[in-house]
Amino acid sequence: MLSTKDVPHLIDAHCHLDFEAFDEDRDQVLKRAEENKITDIIIPGTQNKFWNRINTLCSAHKKKSNTIRLHPCYGLHPYWVHNHEQNDLKHLERYLDKNKPVALGECGLDFRPQYINQNRADKKTQTMFFEAQLDIANNQQLPVVVHSVNATEAVMQSIKKFNNITGMIHSYSGSLEQAKQLIDLNFLISIGGSVTYPQAKKIRKVAGELPLNALLIETDAPDQSDHGNRARRNEPAFLINTVKEIAQLRNETEKTIAQQTTINAKKLFRL
Ligand SMILES: [Zn+2]
Repeated sequence: MLSTKDVPHLIDAHCHLDFEAFDEDRDQVLKRAEENKITDIIIPGTQNKFWNRINTLCSAHKKKSNTIRLHPCYGLHPYWVHNHEQNDLKHLERYLDKNKPVALGECGLDFRPQYINQNRADKKTQTMFFEAQLDIANNQQLPVVVHSVNATEAVMQSIKKFNNITGMIHSYSGSLEQAKQLIDLNFLISIGGSVTYPQAKKIRKVAGELPLNALLIETDAPDQSDHGNRARRNEPAFLINTVKEIAQLRNETEKTIAQQTTINAKKLFRL
């Protein structure tokens, strides 16, 4: 583990802390996160049936600890589009209105060919669910957490249909040019552990060259471990490795990266 003594607070902008992968040791995971300067964790929703699980986790945690803050989001993830029903959108609208989370998400588009074939998640159905959620977020003035894989152009086309939408592209994997266009559309670019892989040239360029006020940092735990932890389950405590890598790529201090990404997350999620 890297030294974190000079690093101020960090916000993990995307972590699936409600997943079963953390059922055995969630309290230890949170303790290690705290020891590694994490103050806030944004927990995205994936399917209707799990929204209550996130809601319960966040409110139970609030009662027993005032240290790390857990912030829920609710949404319909494109990866499970074959499970979503039209009615889930109505349910989502009411659930958001009632529970007032920090964002709608995650929603988005995943156009990997193998995924589309395996999950019968055709582009048209994915786009319908994505744009319906953008519309809800737009109406409720909530930021959106967007999952975008092999679909950056299509994601931008959908976003452009809504005037006042803002949000983040989680675990960004597009080009530098596309990232600049997304920033012009009022979106933040969130960088995960993939930036620590020497062969990840595209994302390393993005992390090195974008203005710092457009960046967020995330683990996407339990997935997407950084290079040093690639054989292990990911967790929020590892976020510092991503901070360190971005600092090196930009020739800036870890402290600067930590401070500015915290400011960016607080502003987007109104924390
Ligand atoms: Zn995710």
